[in-house]
This record gives sequence, C-alpha cells and structure tokens, in this order.
Amino acid sequence: MLFLIIYLRILMNSTTEKIFVCGAGIAGMFSAYYLKKSNPNLDIVLIDKSDSVGGLLKSFQYENYGIFDVGIHTLYQTGIDQIDEVVLGVLEQEEWSELPGDIGGTYVNGILQTGSPYIDLRNIETNEKPIWLGELLEAAVVENDESDNALEYLVNHFGNSLATKVMAPILEKVFKTKASELNTMAVKLLPMNRIVAFDDLPMQDLMLSSKIRSRVAIPNQRNLKEEYKSNKKGFYPKKLGLGFYVKAFMDDFLKMGGHIWTNSQIAKINISSNEICSLNVIKNNEEFTVENVKGLCWGAGLPVLSWVLDPGFTKELNFDPPLKNAIVNVVTSKNVDRFKDLQYVYVLDGGYSIFRVAIYKNYCPNMDNELNKISLEILYLKDEEEGLEDKILQEMINIGIVDCKNDLSFFQLEKLTAGVPRPTQKNISSIRDIRNNISAKKINNLICVGSLAEDNLYFQSDILKDALKKLKHFANI
Ligand SMILES: Cc1cc2nc3c(=O)[nH]c(=O)nc-3n(C[C@H](O)[C@H](O)[C@H](O)COP(=O)(O)OP(=O)(O)OC[C@H]3O[C@@H](n4cnc5c(N)ncnc54)[C@H](O)[C@@H]3O)c2cc1C
Repeated sequence: MLFLIIYLRILMNSTTEKIFVCGAGIAGMFSAYYLKKSNPNLDIVLIDKSDSVGGLLKSFQYENYGIFDVGIHTLYQTGIDQIDEVVLGVLEQEEWSELPGDIGGTYVNGILQTGSPYIDLRNIETNEKPIWLGELLEAAVVENDESDNALEYLVNHFGNSLATKVMAPILEKVFKTKASELNTMAVKLLPMNRIVAFDDLPMQDLMLSSKIRSRVAIPNQRNLKEEYKSNKKGFYPKKLGLGFYVKAFMDDFLKMGGHIWTNSQIAKINISSNEICSLNVIKNNEEFTVENVKGLCWGAGLPVLSWVLDPGFTKELNFDPPLKNAIVNVVTSKNVDRFKDLQYVYVLDGGYSIFRVAIYKNYCPNMDNELNKISLEILYLKDEEEGLEDKILQEMINIGIVDCKNDLSFFQLEKLTAGVPRPTQKNISSIRDIRNNISAKKINNLICVGSLAEDNLYFQSDILKDALKKLKHFANI
C-alpha cells in the first residue's frame, strides 16, 4: 500500500506529460499500447473501473472446469499493419490457431441450420414463396438501401413480404422492440442482411450478380468460392482463454513503461482553453488530482463520459431500458457433434433468451480434454429475470445441447455489466446527441474510441480501425 501511495504521488506530481486512456477493453488496450509505442517518452496511464483489464475479452476461471471466455471472440486481421502487428503480435505465430473462416449456424423455426448462419427460406413451408422470391429479386434490381429504421431497411433489401413476415419478427424477438423502432444497426448485429433462398446449383450462377450476393447466401458456407471470401484471416489462441491473451498484451505494455490503474475512474475532467489540463481520478475509493494531462482517450462508453463532462445534459436524455446480458458457461456430458464445425449458432426463435451459442472446440481445436464446453449468450429484460435459469435449461433441451438436466456437468450463469447494446432509435439517437454535445465542447485533446464511439461501431475490427485513425491525429498534439 505504501509503495502504491508513493508511486501515485510521484506520478501525480511528475512534470512528464501524461495521456490517460480510460476503459481497458480492446479499444483502450490497443490505444494505450499504440500511444506508448509511438511515443515512448509519454506517460500513458490505462485506467479501468473494474478490478482487472480486458473488458469483453476477459475470461472466467472455475476451479474444476477451467477457462471460459466472457464472449468468445475471433481476432481478425484488419489488413492494416499498424493494427495487426500490435493486436496479433501479442502472441507468437505458433501460439495462434488460424480458424478456417467464420463458420456460423442458426437455430430458427425449431431447426438447427448448420449450412449457413443466414435464415434458410427453403425450410419454411408456404405457398406464398413465389411472391416472396419475386419481391426479393425486384428489391435487388431497385437496390434502395437508404433507410431510416430497421423495418425500412428490411423492406428495401428483401421486399415487403419477406421483411414483414420473416425477418422483422425475428429482430423484434431479439431486441424486444418493434422493427420500425429499431435502428438499422440492429440488422448488422445479427446475420440478417442475407437469406438462403435457392439451392447450390442455381446459386452458382446467381452469385455472379453483386446485387444478389449482397442479399442471398449460398446454402452451404463451406462451398463459398475463394473469390467471394474475406481475405482477412481469423485467429484464436491455441491455449484456451482470451484472458491469457489480455495478460500477454498488458505485460508488453507494462514492459514498455506504461501504467495500468484498475479500480479507478475519472470523476472530473478539468478544461482550460479547450484543453483538458488535469483530471480528478478516484482510485480505490480515494480521489486525487492529476496535473500535466496532455490528453484523454476515452474507451469506456460515451454515456459515462457524458455524465462526467455534462451531468445536467445527460440527465435530460431519454434511453430505452438496456438489454441485460449474461453468459452461461456449461460443460455437457452429451457430445457437441450435432454442431459439426460451427463456431457459433444464433438462436432466433421467438421467446428464447439464448441469443447465441458458442462451441469452444471449434475455436480452439487444440484443446483436447475440454471437448464439451459451450457458452450461451443471453439477452433479457430486467422483468424476465425470475425463472431465467429454468428457462435457459428448457431452451438448451429444445436446441439439442442437452437431452435433460443430468447431461449438465457444469452450469454457471454470469451477469455482465456491458455487452450487446439495445439498438433502438431512441437509444441510438441519444448516443448521437451525446456525441454532438461532446464535439460542441471542442476539446482538442480528447478522443473517443470503442463500441458506439461512432454510429454502427461495434465489431472489433471496425473499432480498431476507427481508433487508429483518431490516435494518429492524437499522437501529434
Ligand atoms: C457476448 C459477446 C460476444 C461478442 N462477439 C463478438 C465477435 O465475435 N466479434 C466482434 O467483433 N465483436 C463481438 N462482440 C462485440 C465486441 O466484443 C465489443 O464491441 C468490443 O469488445 C467492445 O470493446 P470496447 O473496448 O469498446 O469495450 P469493452 O470491452 O466493453 O471495454 C470497456 C471497458 O471500460 C471499462 N469501464 C466502464 N466504465 C468505466 C468507467 N466509468 N471508468 C473506467 N473504466 C470503465 C469497463 O470495465 C471495460 O473494461 C461481442 C460482444 C459480446 C457482449
């Protein structure tokens, strides 16, 4: 403790200019590392309010059942060396498994689709199908993707019948909001921008049209021709657990002379002549002021920043209640062969609280003694909390993960404090108001990175590319 106090005193009073990075998820970790590497003379302090770093890349460790991730993630190349060298350079090449692509499935209408994560229309019995397909092809010809809300996007993209009868009800189930009140971002969070509609043979010709390719998927993703595949490779550590990756990442940062403060948050941002000059930080419940602040890189979510900068403005904002996120980590005695090589399965049937199933062995083929590990990502509203575990068990039985409770060797529900956002028009519009309010303050040495720092920013590769752009500007201040 004494060492900590001495260390803080030295750092607080040092005349070396400091850049604070607030929030130690992937956005904050990358930003802190990049800034330190670009300018070793700067003091870079990465702070997080939780007791450990990593954000959504953390892992859980259980005494008898080992490691599970908070949400198992593939780390993709971005194609930008400055990012890939940092993010993938954390581990040696031989410590990564290169995954054979992004192989996903969907559970919809009581059917487990292993061919494609996109909804397979061929499984839906209706004599209206010729009309649906006619409208779909018409939508492809018109190609109007300018939409104000998720419903409009679906109608423009797939035609009216498919949009209103098949796709919108699924979106509404997952996000518990009418499709017309959802932002177009909702469609991007799910595999909803394509549909499987035709068999392999006709699809081979249809794939020649980019308008069809952007709406219609081939029935078996494994047969996608090389020319249509993403050229960005995906990796997962050979040693199970992104927590180890986070540790290696942050050990490198510390070795370069970076600082990490956990259990810490920023209580006040002091600004003079459009520049942040000092910060009031609360660390382990003690508040103190840090002078000589050269800049602040915010990666802890815009609403939190808004509360610190402008509580009066933030209080007036209108948000829909968030979706609660939980992860259920399970080990089953029933094998997971039913899922073949799928890394994940979206669960899109009405009334389900399971949103996605992750099958560990298909991310981490090298793990040999942990074959039946599965994580379930759960989305629910506060008033759905009662009886949630029983409901999840029943859903697992329906999907075929287990046949009965006795097939479960381990079942642990972990509530998350952050996760998949609820992309309603109201929420996205309030986040935009926050963004506009922050930028109207014209604070020269503040940048915002991470999830929702910009419209539609959610997936890791996009977050990293956005952060790099902002950091380049920031490194020169
Ligand atoms: C279950 C799940 C699965 C996902 N799967 C994928 C996927 O396969 N591919 C993909 O690209 N994306 C995926 N995502 C999305 C992706 O994980 C996130 O968008 C991304 O990790 C967000 O990174 P971040 O750094 O912005 O935020 P986070 O990882 O949430 O980090 C934010 C950090 O800020 C800290 N913090 C919060 N408030 C404060 C405060 N007041 N002061 C200080 N620190 C604070 C938090 O403790 C946290 O450490 C998934 C998300 C979830 C929930």
